[in-house]
Amino acid sequence: MIQITMPLNFLGTVYREIRQALVDMGQMFGLLGQPEEVRDAPNAPALKVAGGEIVFDDVRFAYDPDRQILKGVSFTVRPGQTLALVGHSGSGKSTIARLLFRFYDVTGGAIRIDGQDIRQVSQTSLHAQIGVVPQDTVLFNDTVYYNIAYGRPDATREQVEEAARAAKIHDFIAALPDGYETTVGERGLKLSGGEKQRVGIARTLLKNPPILILDEATSALDTQTERSIQTSLAEMGQGRSVITIAHRLSTIADADQILVMEQGVVIERGTHADLLELDGTYAAMWARQSADESGDEDESEPTGLP
Ligand code: ADP
Ligand code: MG
Repeated sequence: MIQITMPLNFLGTVYREIRQALVDMGQMFGLLGQPEEVRDAPNAPALKVAGGEIVFDDVRFAYDPDRQILKGVSFTVRPGQTLALVGHSGSGKSTIARLLFRFYDVTGGAIRIDGQDIRQVSQTSLHAQIGVVPQDTVLFNDTVYYNIAYGRPDATREQVEEAARAAKIHDFIAALPDGYETTVGERGLKLSGGEKQRVGIARTLLKNPPILILDEATSALDTQTERSIQTSLAEMGQGRSVITIAHRLSTIADADQILVMEQGVVIERGTHADLLELDGTYAAMWARQSADESGDEDESEPTGLP
């Protein structure tokens, strides 16, 4: 009996891992079904994260050989710091996030985490260290408990609830008719954008990765919800290295470093104060968004950046 159930459990775990990897990537990139070109190097060791320093060293990248997308991007995110990427749609922000996750390999330069080139470590170990909070969290047609816990099947009930509390969704869940056993998703209880986002945050908190990617994580939400989620995201970023792709500049004003991207190059970099002082592209975007936001406080449409 034991000989039969053990492999089945093992296969279940593998299946869950594969499904999770697909969902994480699919969510982040909207590219489910994309051919997998990236391979582990032979006997690739596991990534060893000490502080979680991220280095982009003159990174170049093209999806198609005849169209360069990133044209030499360099930056360093020190352990525990937050780097924000801003810039118009198509400037290459999400591409940077995809490359860090090694969904594609760079075509020039290198990406290193704590000194290790990400091409030299196993993808499983790389993905285990990076949490992604996408724009639109995808829920399985399963219990809310499963939806939080699936990233870490060995989590205890206590840990799941703790993550939900930190994401400020526990009270909401506890008040549901079946509590954590309530089925959610398309064929279950439909959650609002903000509630789904909180489930996604709880999921990521439970995974507890040292590196976080937030790709316009709150842009689908109304202003009010965005503000409260932003607080949860900021708390989640504590003690982690974070790359955040911002829609609304007010959400990233206190980042340690802000990079303004334009057509695959960094055109400005510095803190919010530095960039206002510089009085260039960022300052112009900031002025435009500030004017728009004071005009209509409750508008749910983000403004200024596409
Ligand atoms: P951003 O996140 O700043 O809006 P992206 O990094 O998504 O920009 O895209 C940068 C450029 O790369 C855009 O011109 C986009 O059209 C192109 N691009 C993005 N994904 C792909 C892809 N899978 N294949 C080809 N081109 C792509
Ligand atoms: Mg993008």
